[in-house]
Amino acid sequence: MKELLRELCDAAASFHARGYAFGSTGNLSIRCGEQIWISPTGASLRNLSPEALACIDADGRSLNGNRPSKEYPFHLAAYRAAGGRANAIVHLHSTHAVALSCLESLDPLEPLPVFTPYYLMRVAPLAVIDYYTPGSNELAAAIGRAATEHDCLLLRNHGMVCLGRTLAEAADRSEELEETARLYFLLRGERVRFLTPGERDQILRAFPRR
Ligand code: ZN
Repeated sequence: MKELLRELCDAAASFHARGYAFGSTGNLSIRCGEQIWISPTGASLRNLSPEALACIDADGRSLNGNRPSKEYPFHLAAYRAAGGRANAIVHLHSTHAVALSCLESLDPLEPLPVFTPYYLMRVAPLAVIDYYTPGSNELAAAIGRAATEHDCLLLRNHGMVCLGRTLAEAADRSEELEETARLYFLLRGERVRFLTPGERDQILRAFPRR
């Protein structure tokens, strides 16, 4: 248990150090049985300690007295909806994912093109969630609906949520999503070779998501 909490703090610091999280934005959680451990409210991901993490139950009740991130309702909703597919959640306001989420022209059915096999392996299909006030029950409900099917969610005018069986898997997905969004802006206006439908099928057959 102690090691998992240390792993969460280390992952948070790594996101901050690499510019994926800034100020006091972003939050991470892991689920261990009945307990959900989540970064505390108002804290920077830069220097979390295991003692500062908030421990809550599936109804959001505090189990250790520390106050959870204000965005905890959507973590609970996602865990409830995803069942065994989620034991960890990464939520970031990383720049390129947020920029993508603000595009008026965003296609909710295919918000990003398939530039590389890795996007297919780790992210697609990416769900788009309409804008709701951060921390609201409406946002939690929308995320819960999408998390029954999706591991990666783009929140309109807000950021991303990625689920994983482990924290490493959720972190991997969030990094792949941010970097694919970055590629999208780098390549906008360029003539691009995308993966062909045949190449996509080959990847999905060779690396089934579940
Ligand atoms: Zn947020």
